[in-house]
This record gives sequence, structure tokens and C-alpha cells, in this order.
Amino acid sequence: MTRLPFLALALVFVSGAPALALAQPDSEDSGDETAGGRAESPASDSVAKSRDSGKQSRRRKNKVVGHAVPDSQLRTTPLPLPSGHVQLFGLASKEEADLEIFNDDGSFDVDELHQADHMLRCKRTDTEKPIDPRLIVILSYVYDHFQKRLEVVSGFRNQRKQTSFHFKGSASDIRIEGVPPKKIVQFASTLDTGGMGIGLYPRAHFVHIDVRPLPSYRWIDNARPNPNSPDKRPPRGWKRKKLQS
Ligand SMILES: [Zn+2]
Repeated sequence: MTRLPFLALALVFVSGAPALALAQPDSEDSGDETAGGRAESPASDSVAKSRDSGKQSRRRKNKVVGHAVPDSQLRTTPLPLPSGHVQLFGLASKEEADLEIFNDDGSFDVDELHQADHMLRCKRTDTEKPIDPRLIVILSYVYDHFQKRLEVVSGFRNQRKQTSFHFKGSASDIRIEGVPPKKIVQFASTLDTGGMGIGLYPRAHFVHIDVRPLPSYRWIDNARPNPNSPDKRPPRGWKRKKLQS
């Protein structure tokens, strides 16, 4: 990991301004791998704004707005373990799985984790990668809270852009029928003891959740859904599948 995110964070603290910064332009999930790395300092932002405020604000509608999460906003009290129960529904595969990820002694049930890998496989190439069990634990907390199956928009992505947490197998985009994505963001944020990325996609109507090295990161991406964006192209040699969601 580069030192840049820490530097960006430090700048924000020194300036005393809110930890708000612009990340990269509009593409679904663009915020998930920026992690503050490309964040501009508030100073450079305001210079740009004064230069051409009209154009800037129009452009901003399509930008990803995100910030690193200061320690003061992280959870400090320990979380009780979730039930380990999680119901997943793959929107692309139309498959459903009812998982119990813990054995009676509290250890992971490896077969169930493999089932989770399968449910969160790449929808463009049908390939699987071991998903970080910490992400599945988070999904179980979310399931416990809302008591409704989680609809998987995207899990592992076998893609050319390998910096994405989707490529690393530690990210998932989800939605829950009847639950506003903002509510999912609010609840997921209460779980973060450090090392979570949570992105809200109001227009695409899903929430991105990942586990990552510090710092935690939050963003809002107002981009329209674009499952076929160039970012998400599979590596060379893979036939590209057109997707509707
Ligand atoms: Zn995502």
C-alpha cells in the first residue's frame, strides 16, 4: 500500500476541513479502489471551484465523492458475532443459497464458505475466487439486521483492472428488496471497526461493501448503472459477456 492515502488524510486533518475529497470520475464502483489514493486536497478543490464554479458543479454531479473515515467515526465497542446465517440471491445467475457459515464451535464451515465463493463468482466469466471470510461475516450481520435475502449485484470480478477490491475477492455490491440502499449504508457503517469500504450508488441502487487495509473509506457514486464499463472487462482471452445488471 502506498503512503498516499495517509498523506491525503493528514492534509485533511491539518487543514481542519471536513474529510471530503473528489475521487475519480463516474463509473460504477470507481470509488472502491481509490481508497483516497487519488483524493485531491480541499485546497486544490476550492481553487478549481473558483476557476469555473458553474462547470465544476455540473461536472461534480457525475463524480465520485468520498472520504477516508477518521478514527473518531469508527466503532470502538466489540461486536457480538453474527448468527452466521446469510441468504444470498445472485441477480445474474438467479441462484439462491442459504448459508450457515459457522460450525457449532464458532469456527468457519469451509463447505459453506466455498458455497459463498460460488454465489459471489464472477458473473462475466463464471470463475470463482476465495472470498475473504470477513466479508461474508459482514454480510451475515447485514442479513441478521434486515432479515431479508441479500441480492448480489456483483461479487468477485475477474477483470482487467486488478486494483479493485472486487478483483481481490473482498468486495460485494448488494441490494435488499424494499430497503433503501442508504439504510444499508447506515447499518454497515456501524460495523466498521476499521478496514471497511462502503459505497452508496443511488442511481444504480446498490451498496458496495468491502474489507480493505486502513483507512476505511466512504463514497457516493451517482453514476448510472454500467455493468459493461471498460473497467470491468475480463482479462484478455476471455469472451466478454454482455450484462443487463
Ligand atoms: Zn463494488
